[in-house]
Amino acid sequence: AAKRAGRNGYAIFDPTMTMSVLEEAQLRSDLEHALEHDEFLVLYQPVVDMQTQSVTSVEALVRWEHPRDGLLGPYHFIGAAEANGLIVPLGRWVLREACAQLASWRAASPAAARLKINVNLSARQFQYAGLVDDVAQALADAGVDAGSLTLEITESMLMEDIETAKRTLYALRELGVRLAIDDFGTGYSSLSYLKQLPVDVIKIDKTFVDDVHIDADDVALVDAVAGLGQALKMQTVAEGIETDAQWSTLRNLGIDHGQGYLFGKPADPTQIHALLTGVGAISA
Ligand code: C2E
Ligand code: MG
Ligand code: MG
Ligand code: MG
Repeated sequence: AAKRAGRNGYAIFDPTMTMSVLEEAQLRSDLEHALEHDEFLVLYQPVVDMQTQSVTSVEALVRWEHPRDGLLGPYHFIGAAEANGLIVPLGRWVLREACAQLASWRAASPAAARLKINVNLSARQFQYAGLVDDVAQALADAGVDAGSLTLEITESMLMEDIETAKRTLYALRELGVRLAIDDFGTGYSSLSYLKQLPVDVIKIDKTFVDDVHIDADDVALVDAVAGLGQALKMQTVAEGIETDAQWSTLRNLGIDHGQGYLFGKPADPTQIHALLTGVGAISA
């Protein structure tokens, strides 16, 4: 059962617990209703160049504007949507929304001409046979070039069924889309498989960033991943940077890009436009 938490009807979905049939059915119908009635929205978090702090891309992060419970983060519904399959249409919506938003920023300002976008994929979406067509369609409909889109997947999604994963990754690569491994270091990647996969970006999980300015073990781990990135010609991004001390440590370790509250929290499209055009800053 998803535990009932506070004022939110939906608790953090814990797959090790079983929701009652009733709870499951209710959440499913609420999610369906939400999709039909445009209750989802996408916020965008800047990813910056570690040296210059200039914004190179933004990551699309979905939210549910729940009519009763207010703005819900992904931990309240992604797990359930994954379990009941609604993640496929929801993920498709996020993908299409993000591509359309990128086109709209670009149309509004030359400052967005080289901006790129990152979209998270869930395991079920990654296994879905129509994924590659969905991605191609979203890009075509928005008029966005494939090279401007990076799809984020996790290690567990790759290692579960390596041959199928490989085929999907190569089909996406064929389109020209870039691929990132999200939350790197928290799963189990086999280095020999990693070498064979067309991965462009490694995103180092926040858990390695939290104490990197004070913990020599974290420095050693991040240093190793930076070396791995260099050896495999993959770019590195550090996630969850909140302080100048973390930033300078990671910059000195040669990490290419950074993401975190220090540079900007997830923000709405207007705030991102303002950030790009220098009209305003995102409050951190
Ligand atoms: P993620 O892809 O690893 O995204 C990074 C998460 O860390 C985001 O949480 C972001 O708001 C948060 N974050 C970024 N910088 C900082 C920081 O400096 N400090 C702290 N404390 N947190 C930071 P969010 O938006 O709650 O998303 C959580 C996860 O939900 C994402 O992790 C991703 O796995 C998933 N998710 C979000 N949007 C989507 C989506 O459209 N589709 C799918 N399948 N998953 C999504
Ligand atoms: Mg991500
Ligand atoms: Mg991550
Ligand atoms: Mg994460």
